[in-house]
Amino acid sequence: MECSTDKKKKIIIAVDGFSSCGKSTFAKSIAARLGYIFIDTGAMYRAVTLYAIECGAIRSGMVDADRVVALLEDIAIDFRFNPVRGASDIYVNGELVEGKIRTIEVSNLVSAVSSIPEVRSKLVAMQQRMGRDKGVVMDGRDIGTVVFPDAELKIFMTADPMVRARRRYDELTAKGEKVSLEEIARNVASRDRADQTRKVSPLRKADDALVLDNSCMSVEEQMEWLNEKLSRLGVA
Ligand code: C5P
Repeated sequence: MECSTDKKKKIIIAVDGFSSCGKSTFAKSIAARLGYIFIDTGAMYRAVTLYAIECGAIRSGMVDADRVVALLEDIAIDFRFNPVRGASDIYVNGELVEGKIRTIEVSNLVSAVSSIPEVRSKLVAMQQRMGRDKGVVMDGRDIGTVVFPDAELKIFMTADPMVRARRRYDELTAKGEKVSLEEIARNVASRDRADQTRKVSPLRKADDALVLDNSCMSVEEQMEWLNEKLSRLGVA
């Protein structure tokens, strides 16, 4: 028997943009609102970075790209829904790494790892498999341009760099990490630069993406903005 919800048009929603724009929070809320699957692709690049650190392919801040590429075939990444968080946790080879991938150490190294072409092609192929049946909200840097260039709704998020640094600072200090606002601001700026200037799939707005600058917007205001776009698409 087919339920009426099964008949609803399912789409792919690509949420791209700069670091610490609240992409994941927004994408998660969209997914909850529509009953879609949320996929945080930044977590996947972070997971590869963490694995590379733990396996010694990154030493004293230097990324040995050949070693990272060699490690790729040993890395199995999967997401498992965590009902307490209401979102999926990321696992590497069966180990829960959700907490370990958000440190400043991983943040400082992830752009170098994500610029390795072989890393990108492995993760992009995984992401395309995850979105095969639609009904997904995927957040990242290249979702609307490379992973799903035909996504029905593409959102490009941006916000003032200092607002973004403050948000990341509040998030990390709430978890007890000892960081300074200046250090976070430097990390945000250097990731923006690295993500926009890398050779493979640089961060850029897809021509058909809608820009959302949320510097002064609450999550509720962002959801109102979204609702209007969804009703135009006939999705909600
Ligand atoms: O989204 P988040 O800040 O966790 O992403 C961490 C890093 O992963 C980014 O700075 C970027 O270098 C990389 N990334 C990427 N492509 C994506 C998602 C993230 O290159 N689709």
